This record gives sequence, structure tokens and C-alpha cells, in this order.
Amino acid sequence: MQWPNDYVFYRVPGRHYPTVDHAEGVYIWDTTGKKYLDGSGGAAVVTVGHGVREIVDAMTRQALKVAYVHGTHFTSEAAKECAERLCRLVADDSLSRVYFVSGGSEAVESAMKIARQYWEEVGERDRYKMISRWTSFHGNTMGAVALGGNTGRRRFYHPIMIHNPHIMPCYCYRCPFRKDPEVCDLECAEQLERTIKYEGPETVAAFIAEPVVGASGGVIVPPDGYWQRIREICDHYRVLLIADEVMTGVGRCGRNFALDIWRVVPDIIVLAKGLSSGYAPLGAMIVKDFIYKAIISGSGSFLHGHTYGQNPVSVAAGAAVLKYLERHRLIERVGQIEKVFREKLSTLESFEIVGDVRCIGLFAGIEFVANKKTRKTFNPALKVAHRVFNEAFHRGLITYPGTGGADGIRGDHILLAPPYIITEEQIDEMVGILHDSIKVVEDSIL
Ligand code: PMP
Repeated sequence: MQWPNDYVFYRVPGRHYPTVDHAEGVYIWDTTGKKYLDGSGGAAVVTVGHGVREIVDAMTRQALKVAYVHGTHFTSEAAKECAERLCRLVADDSLSRVYFVSGGSEAVESAMKIARQYWEEVGERDRYKMISRWTSFHGNTMGAVALGGNTGRRRFYHPIMIHNPHIMPCYCYRCPFRKDPEVCDLECAEQLERTIKYEGPETVAAFIAEPVVGASGGVIVPPDGYWQRIREICDHYRVLLIADEVMTGVGRCGRNFALDIWRVVPDIIVLAKGLSSGYAPLGAMIVKDFIYKAIISGSGSFLHGHTYGQNPVSVAAGAAVLKYLERHRLIERVGQIEKVFREKLSTLESFEIVGDVRCIGLFAGIEFVANKKTRKTFNPALKVAHRVFNEAFHRGLITYPGTGGADGIRGDHILLAPPYIITEEQIDEMVGILHDSIKVVEDSIL
């Protein structure tokens, strides 16, 4: 049925949004019959692929049994299963308590609040500051916007944001310290120590960062040693380390969690997206025992809660996705196909406007530059990433675009994060469309 009127509040009013019809595997079809390769899994969400019958069946079974209860009154077998499966994925047994919410922003807010409450419970009431990084994204709720370091996303909200210290990102392609990664002494990590000292260690509650920066920078992979040094600094000053694995968690980078790559264990993990592969709104916060215990033996409860926290249908989706990933060894598959993905995408480096192609697991960022030698960014008004996105979309490939910073601090980029079931032929299809799309945009600019 077609609706005669349209009351939907569109994200970009005036833009044409095709009406989606159905999806299967790595493909989505709109109501005109046009087919799209879901090259970005939406916003780095889809892990197991679209239309997996057994996940839908698990959700249906749960909805028919009981679709909703409030977390004040009940838990569910699905919540217990999802939490247990998640805890089996984390590298350290001490990360053993899972708090379910509806998405990434809620998970970040939960982490901010539990970090603050923890310090209250243990009597260090002056610890309230959260340090985060520029060129990062942590969500769209006000706490998460304040922690975020995406200048464009922050600009309207300064008067109503909490003010927390930000440190520089570990963005080797545009090193904020103008150093060469080979000999940089990890100045970007050292900045955390300096900031903790300036702020006063006794006032700092937590440091939060994405292990690999996603939407705000286009897959910024840290140099080796970065995360180990960050962990050391947090340990030394007893600052809680929060890993925002909303994009990277549950296999996106080829390991269960991205921090596993550097063998670093955070105190709190926040995740969402890939956990339910988009089948239902679901996010989670996993905390270490000592935080949970401090709350139990202190005021007795986490002073927080959302109406849809631990929603039975959402956690049933999460449990089914985790089971599916395990049974089909899909996280291992990400590690296996990473090389092919990287090699095929690297052919895009031949374009004049492609400055950097970054890839880890099935997570890639293509950064566009006005000058390859100087790495000068495009004027954001040119909307280069969005033009590439539009050309690709028109040709049936979905990517996720990000506009650069006005002052050259961040480049225009597109993000790719296909479902873990993508085949080599489908990667070829993706790269072929990217070549055609980038060529059209490059020809129109140069
Ligand atoms: N953290 C990170 C790293 C993200 O990429 C996102 C979403 N792009 C969020 C938090 C917020 O998640 P959500 O959109 O589910 O609220």
C-alpha cells in the first residue's frame, strides 16, 4: 500500500529517501525494485547479514511468550543468555556484569553515570571529570555529545553541554603533533597523562575512547603501543578506562573486541550496533566486578534505568545473533577476509583525491584530499564525501559518509563496514562501484 501523504521527519529534509522494501544477505531492495549492496551495514551495524530466519524466529518466539516487562520487575532467560554469551566473548573474566540498553548513546550515558557513581560509592567524591578525545564520536544524547570530539556535531550545543577535557586523537595520517609514526614516542598517549596532571588526578573519573575511531574520522587505527600506554596511564592514576566499542565490538575488526588486538582490558565496555546486527534496538555496558561490587556494597543500586532496558525481544535478538556468529564462525571469517578486503580497496589509492585507505577487519575508511602531497583537506562546503556517497548510492552501493573539519583537522571520508558474510565477488562489486563513483567526483573537481 502506498500512503498518499508523508509526515515523516526526514534527517535531511528535501533529500529523496527511497522507500525500503526488503533485504537479504548483503543486499537491500527498495520499492521500485532497485538493489543495493549494503557496503556499510547501515552505520556499521549489520554483522550476520539481512533476513536471517533463525534470528527473526528467536525474536518471534520471545515476542509471543512475552514482549515487554520492565527491568524493575523481571529479568528474562533471553537476557541471561545474551549476557552470558557476551561475557564469553570478552577477554577477561573480571568483565562480568552486563547492563542492557537500547543503543550506543544510552550505553555511553550509562558508562558515564556508573563511572561517576563508582567514585561516589568508594568515597572519592571529587572524581567527576571524564576525559575524551577530539575527532571521536560517542552518540547523540547530551552527555555523549559532550564527550564526542566531532566539532560539527557539537557546534549547536555548547551552552548546554558539560565541559570535559579533550585530548588529541591518535590520527597518524594527520598527526596533531606533526610526528612520523615510526619515531613519534606516542605523544598522543602521553597527552592523557599530562591532561590528568593538569586537571588534578584526584578529580578525574574516567577516560573514554573508541579503540578504532569510526564515524567521526573514518577508521582511524591507533599506532602499536598506544592502547597499552593508555592503560598504563589509567592504572597509574586510577582512572577508569571506558572502551567505546559501539562500532568495533562483536567482531568488526576481526577480533571479538577491537581492544583484544592490543591485549588491553578496559574497566567498562560499551557496545551496541553489531550486537543485535540491527534486528532490534540493543546496546550494552559490560563492567568489571569491582565496579558492580562497589555499588552493591554501597548504595545498593545503579541509579539509572530506561524503559526499554533489557527489552526481552531485543535481548533475544542479541542472543540469537551471538549464537549465529559463533556457530558460523563469522568473527574468524572477518579475520580471514580482511587481507582481500584491504588489498582490493587499496586499488582506490590510485585516485588523486584519495589520500588514505585505512582498513582493519571488515572496517574501512577512505579519506579524500584536495592535495595528495600536502594532505590538504577539501573545503567541507564541497561535500566531497557526500558526492561520492551519492554516486555510489545511485549505482547501488551503500556507504557511510563523513564530512571533514573546516580547518583541516579531519578529512572528508566514507566508511565501509559490510556484513561479515560478504564474499570476494561482492567485494569486487563494491570496489568496482567505488572506482566508478570516485572517478565521476574526481573528474568534476580536478
Ligand atoms: N559510539 C560510537 C563509537 C558510535 O559509532 C555510535 C553511533 N554511530 C554511538 C556511540 C551512538 O550509538 P547510537 O547511535 O546507537 O546511539
